[in-house]
Amino acid sequence: MTEKPINSTYISTPSRTMEILKHFGIKLRKTYGQNFLIDTNVLKKIANFANINEKDIILEIGSGIGSLTEIIYQHAKKIIAVEIDTSLSGIFSQIFEGYIAEKIFLIKNDAMKLNYSEIADNYGINKCVSNLPYKIAAPILLKILSETQKITDFYVTIQKDIAERILAKPGDKNYNAFSVKLNFYSHFVKSFAISRSCFYPKPYVDSITVHIKRNERFLPNSVLYKINPLILSDILKNYELQISFTQDFFRFVEDCFYHRRKKLINSLSLRGGFYKDNEQKIIRMLEKYGFSEDTRPEEISLEIFLLLFLNIKDEYSYFLKKEDI
Ligand code: SAM
Repeated sequence: MTEKPINSTYISTPSRTMEILKHFGIKLRKTYGQNFLIDTNVLKKIANFANINEKDIILEIGSGIGSLTEIIYQHAKKIIAVEIDTSLSGIFSQIFEGYIAEKIFLIKNDAMKLNYSEIADNYGINKCVSNLPYKIAAPILLKILSETQKITDFYVTIQKDIAERILAKPGDKNYNAFSVKLNFYSHFVKSFAISRSCFYPKPYVDSITVHIKRNERFLPNSVLYKINPLILSDILKNYELQISFTQDFFRFVEDCFYHRRKKLINSLSLRGGFYKDNEQKIIRMLEKYGFSEDTRPEEISLEIFLLLFLNIKDEYSYFLKKEDI
């Protein structure tokens, strides 16, 4: 891949980034996770990693002054950039003046407030390539995955501590309800590390760029094998049912992790009457899948959570509708 800078020098060279910030009198805001990439080779590596082609319509969350946009827009069909900070979006519009509305669209808004079902449909977005702001890195992934099926591949640069939470496996110290939910929608493909010195200002931790891919199937094969197909056939055919199934399942997972360090059974019992009434059933199910009643939620994989949930699903959904358990 060869790129041509918008100007004679790439935005991501340290001297040009400093020049832009100085020229516009910008003070970077920590609350918005404004750590810009200042290594053009690393940005080119991200573009290669994301395997961008002329059919790709790319969502970029947190475009800043356009360091990443400049590298990726030439290979893609369109870039839909989102930026919350109006002083940066103003500069971005000036830098990309000739390309705005033709190849690059800028949404000046909080990425957490957008509706990705509408945006993905309106623009035809299929990939997300972003250097994500620290605070929203985890929730924005879950938000996009839950709102649209159209965006299938995420090539996101995130700080290592966040990555450890996002990619945690059962038994890891960071494994929690969020890991289970993200795993429900998507899986890790591959990643590469980026040193903290490639950012300005330099953060306290290194980062990684990770490829996360949306799962093609609503439920994993390993779960489908174990369930009577008749029980699931309606859900698998109907998108509305899938959404309500997912909402109830996520609520169940949150209840399981309500007291993360406690045994699953105790954590659930503390959540309310429904679980107390069904305690023996849940214990029998745990045993059926090879776990004792002393098991803690952090030891359980997505598949086992799904199997547990599918066993109590009908009663559970009924209770959720009737009362707050
Ligand atoms: N894309 C640039 C780069 O690679 O150097 C900047 C990335 S910087 C890590 C994150 C950017 O996200 C900042 O420009 C910040 O202002 C923006 N941002 C932070 N919170 C946001 C939000 N809720 N919605 C949209 N943009 C946000």
